[in-house]
Amino acid sequence: MNILFIGPPGSGKGTQSKRLNDEYGLTHLSTGDMFRKAISEQTEVGMKAKAFMDRGEYVPDSVVIEMIKNRLAEADCASGFILDGFPRTEPQAKALQDLLITLGMKLDGVFFFDVKKEVLVQRLSSRRTCRNCNRVVSDDQLNTDFGLLTCPQKTGGACDFYQRDDDKAEVVMKRIDVYQNQTMPLIQFYEGKGNFLRIDGSLAPDEVFKLIENSCKKS
Ligand code: AMP
Repeated sequence: MNILFIGPPGSGKGTQSKRLNDEYGLTHLSTGDMFRKAISEQTEVGMKAKAFMDRGEYVPDSVVIEMIKNRLAEADCASGFILDGFPRTEPQAKALQDLLITLGMKLDGVFFFDVKKEVLVQRLSSRRTCRNCNRVVSDDQLNTDFGLLTCPQKTGGACDFYQRDDDKAEVVMKRIDVYQNQTMPLIQFYEGKGNFLRIDGSLAPDEVFKLIENSCKKS
């Protein structure tokens, strides 16, 4: 099963992707995670992406499309994937359409995570991410035993939480504006194509997961 998650930053796409990956083994394709990894490894793609990400802007379409084109052709995508954070612009959506045709694949479900701006701002600015496994928690949770969560990427080690630069207050508003201007128009693009479900992303993660699961079981 191939799934597309579309929604603003902080709407829960990453959390639900991780859960689908854990429970159903779908490959999680997050372009944001790919860029952060590329930056930490100082690759050419990472160098190109960094300045845009720091400003809360989108990385140019040509860079993103090339990266996802290579990734989708890898073997682990053949048995099912979740696209999280791609496409974000119309040229990317069109490129994805062509790419799926070339690869003989299709999208079985498109889920739109709808969340109000105030909730997003609050979630993003209190969000902390593990440097190693990308697990996300809120800073409130960190004050409880979440701070000691075992990291699946570090044998016997705890998660190493930090605040992403682009989750800092000054960049968060910019990211939400960029999403509204450049990504919201894609909702119309996908709405008419079937297999589309709008989800209230402000619900509890377990409830959101059930809605996704039920919809996937029907299709
Ligand atoms: P995310 O982790 O999905 O919130 O992405 C973090 C940042 O990576 C975004 O604010 C963009 O700068 C960049 N990025 C991720 N995916 C894309 C994309 N599909 N198109 C352009 N930029 C992207």
